[in-house]
Amino acid sequence: MATLIFLGASKTVTGSRYLLDIHGKRLLVDCGLFQGAKEFRRKNWEEFPVPPASIDAVFITHAHSDHSAYLPKLCKEGFAGKIYCTHATRDLCEIMLYDTAHLMEEDARWANKKGFSKHKPALPLYTAQDAKRALKLFSPLHYGEDLFLMDDFRVKFKDAGHILGSSFIDMKTSFNGETKKIVFGGDFGRPDRPILRNPVQAFNVDYLLIEATYGDRAHGDADPYDEIARVINDGVERGGGIIIPSFAVERTQDLLYVIRELEEAGRIPVLPVYVDSPMAIDTTEIFEKRISDQDLSSRVLTIKGKQILRPKNVHFVKSVEESKAINTSKGQAIIISASGMATGGRVLHHLRKRLRHRENTILFVGYQVMGTRGRRIVDGQKTIRIHGQEIPVKAHVECLDVFSAHADYYIMLAWLMGFNRPPEKTFIIHGEPDACESLAEKIRNRFGWDVTIPNLGDSFELEM
Ligand SMILES: [Zn+2]
Ligand SMILES: [Zn+2]
Repeated sequence: MATLIFLGASKTVTGSRYLLDIHGKRLLVDCGLFQGAKEFRRKNWEEFPVPPASIDAVFITHAHSDHSAYLPKLCKEGFAGKIYCTHATRDLCEIMLYDTAHLMEEDARWANKKGFSKHKPALPLYTAQDAKRALKLFSPLHYGEDLFLMDDFRVKFKDAGHILGSSFIDMKTSFNGETKKIVFGGDFGRPDRPILRNPVQAFNVDYLLIEATYGDRAHGDADPYDEIARVINDGVERGGGIIIPSFAVERTQDLLYVIRELEEAGRIPVLPVYVDSPMAIDTTEIFEKRISDQDLSSRVLTIKGKQILRPKNVHFVKSVEESKAINTSKGQAIIISASGMATGGRVLHHLRKRLRHRENTILFVGYQVMGTRGRRIVDGQKTIRIHGQEIPVKAHVECLDVFSAHADYYIMLAWLMGFNRPPEKTFIIHGEPDACESLAEKIRNRFGWDVTIPNLGDSFELEM
């Protein structure tokens, strides 16, 4: 028998952590940070539900921080086993974990200096030193490579088409002479995205965990190229700057790819494009290096010598001085800067400067989690607090979910339709409660499967 315990991303979209006790081993799948509202963020500071030293191995579906950025804290609290993921995920985690640690250290320093925090002194959740310790434990695998953790326990990572290196994890064992399989869905991509391959099909699944970020929504058939072109051209007409708060990983590279294509097609003017995020710059280099993880058309372009992520007038802004210079510059430009939900990072300085002017455009290109600054701006809040100061929101705000890296329910159902038999149990994870409920209903109605929406802390006995 095995026991599966839901330690995060249950009826919410962050903090992915699933504990699987199986055949005497204790495994953790995903090790994400809780983000968004304070009630969730507080959970990052709570004692981990089991002693981290008792965990034998961790498996990471992809490098997004809601799936991987609790790792340094887990190691700090005693975890010393191996961390398995794909090669690109490891590369991206190296950038991401250091960046997260630095931001935490910076935020603590800033809070202490300005006296924002109730905690005296304010401390970071973890430091760059803790991130370094975690990175030493990584043991990357290729897509499809077999890992035998025990004699009768095989693990494989399969392409989930969500971000570079993203995977769903396929674990196979036997129970009472029967082969049993559990699939941890991670985050699931959409087909036909720039740069990435489409998600791979799963077969012979007994237990399935799938995400419901967009479980109650359909993306519609709006074309991301048309939408980005419209917002950029409108922004140019408005006369101000175009600020794009963007996740450093994947979203920024998608944007660079699409902006270059639009420029080459003559659909938008060539503007200066500033990538103002050291992490996004490092990530772009990894994308350019890991050609084998790109889809066929990107690979062909790259082999032909095209720099697929470089619009004509792109500038990668590394230093703080350069960042300040574009903040005060007057000309029209596109500024892509992290973080994607405006919860931290350099984009806050751009927003503080530009939100108050009507001629500017703020373009959000991803799901804005409840409780984040991004969500409040998109919801039309009149003023926004940044670095302890109330800033009026006068700029034009757009939010495009056409660019989402998550599958909507149509794509989810289409993927499930490819199954050769129903799973014994399907768990819906990684969604707000309404989205989970909606996806669960659709799966029950369409396929008649046994679907459960676990609560945080719920545990299930699995026959495997
Ligand atoms: Zn993700
Ligand atoms: Zn996620």
